[in-house]
Amino acid sequence: MALTGVEIFKLLPKTNCKKCGHPTCLAFAMKLAQRQASLDACPDVSEEAKRVLGEASAPPVRPITFGAGDRAVKMGEETVLFRHEKKFVNPSAFAVEIKDTMSGDEINNIVEGVLNSEIDRVGQKLKIDAIFISNASNDAGKFESAVKTVAGKAPAVPLILSTSNPAAAEAALKAAAGKRPILYGADESNADAMANLAKTFKVTLGVTARCLDALPALTEKIKGLGVDDMVIDPGARTAKEIIQDNTLIRRAAVKKNFKALGYPVITFAQRDDNMLELLIAALGVAKYSSIIVMSSIEKWKNLALFTMRQNIYTDPQVPMQVEQKIYKVGEPTPESPLMITTNFSLTYFIVSGEVENSKVPCRLAVMDCEGLSVLTGWAAGKFTASKIAQFLQESGIENELKNKELIIPGYVAILSGAIEEKLPGWKVTVGPREANALPAFLKSR
Ligand code: SF4
Repeated sequence: MALTGVEIFKLLPKTNCKKCGHPTCLAFAMKLAQRQASLDACPDVSEEAKRVLGEASAPPVRPITFGAGDRAVKMGEETVLFRHEKKFVNPSAFAVEIKDTMSGDEINNIVEGVLNSEIDRVGQKLKIDAIFISNASNDAGKFESAVKTVAGKAPAVPLILSTSNPAAAEAALKAAAGKRPILYGADESNADAMANLAKTFKVTLGVTARCLDALPALTEKIKGLGVDDMVIDPGARTAKEIIQDNTLIRRAAVKKNFKALGYPVITFAQRDDNMLELLIAALGVAKYSSIIVMSSIEKWKNLALFTMRQNIYTDPQVPMQVEQKIYKVGEPTPESPLMITTNFSLTYFIVSGEVENSKVPCRLAVMDCEGLSVLTGWAAGKFTASKIAQFLQESGIENELKNKELIIPGYVAILSGAIEEKLPGWKVTVGPREANALPAFLKSR
């Protein structure tokens, strides 16, 4: 169980030396209990206290990384049941399945799909994260060959190697040397051999049980064999089972600090019906799956899932925002229009996208409104005539313009007169209310 502030206090030096930045050891202990401070901040803490507190302060869902380099996937570290309590930490990873019984062309097509899956949305690069290679043939040679093919064509993409056959697993792990894959397929029948392989090759082990009830004993056994990094599969396959098992696992880990289930969860969404597959995958994103395995890649499916994942894994306490500055769209000249909006990411990317569509080079002044949209920023007193005037004056933009004209969003037309008063010599033009009307507006000028 997590320790209380008083229990933590008993383990601290109690000298109130303030080196940790807190006035007393008790104040520091309270911050530790709320997970708002790190034990490293106290230089005088004993080794014994470090051990006890380190265990107690570890996130209830174990942090695990697989893959290597820039595309390595982080999982776990979750501390809450609901996003609004704090935030969800590491977004669900999407993996697509390749079976070792597939033809070379089929494998190539899927690998190409993964490599070309990246889209840019609201300033973030979103993509299919990993490839799940399954030993459908149950033949070690075929499995090894499929792993070599995929690793050769997509060397940077993290892999999950799925087999319950230890000989095939060993061959595949050798073929994926240096890639830090997950070895998935440890169960009650092969736990010793698979745990040995995970230790030898220093990889995370994917553990699967008949049912959720059988899973804790299996993870405890594997941990006892010396494997710390696991991802777990409670065997849930239907939507109902996935919601039920994933919720029970997260609740046990977070609320009870039940270490035997404190691991990232892998969910299998593969379906013949692509829409059903999308819905199952979406369920996994919403309900605690760290890895979601799918059967195919379609752009429409990716876009829906990427968007949902991005929204669920955004910190609800920190609005997504972009830097305050004057952005150039195209190659504006001194005659090009100057527009203004707020620094809410979605607003910025939609507005700049529409301006790009217009093919009219522009300057886009993006003002810091603490990540609020135009109307909300105005209502909150952050997107006001005086603040807009101050921002433009301090930016020095008027030295780059032939005509001192500012186009404001139609939703804040009410500000036009006040801005002209604050910015003598400037003309304020009211633009459209919605960004999608910008291309026509800009072209008509
Ligand atoms: Fe107490 Fe350590 Fe903080 Fe000093 S640095 S006040 S000993 S917790």
